[in-house]
Amino acid sequence: MDCPGCDHALQTVSYEGVQIETCESCGGEFVSGEELAHIVRAREQAFTPQQIAQFDSCMPVFGIADADATTRFSCPCCRAPMNPINYAGDTGVVVDRCPSCSGMWLEHSELEKVQMLLEKWEDAAPAQLRSAAGKLNRARAEAAARTSKAFGGSRFSFVNAMVNRLLDAA
Ligand SMILES: [Zn+2]
Ligand SMILES: [Zn+2]
Repeated sequence: MDCPGCDHALQTVSYEGVQIETCESCGGEFVSGEELAHIVRAREQAFTPQQIAQFDSCMPVFGIADADATTRFSCPCCRAPMNPINYAGDTGVVVDRCPSCSGMWLEHSELEKVQMLLEKWEDAAPAQLRSAAGKLNRARAEAAARTSKAFGGSRFSFVNAMVNRLLDAA
């Protein structure tokens, strides 16, 4: 597989117990949708308080700016044009998803940013909400696993948006 950003050959590496493809040249990473959900849930990667503090001013962002909404990459796995999405519906981190194989392309440091933001928000939530969020996240992952093949990812976004609204209301 070649990097969709710079055509450098991608390397397979192990990260938080799953295999991902990385580009040594531009730092981009290609991860399957399920693997990305696992990485975010697993929280094995330890970040320093200094690393996390750089996101202190980041608040949830819904939707996607017009400037980010156009296709920039072709899937390194199956060549389909990838769709930019706001990861988890509200992180404001725009990642690119393949409508055909559900693979995700993350540019340099986006994977770490997604992990740090979601950890930070999870830790900042009151304990009760945290336990509810755990259940909701499991439901979200299960719903995504059940529907991603049949619906090619569109249902996954829908479920994400629904869970985010429930969390807001909690
Ligand atoms: Zn690259
Ligand atoms: Zn693909």
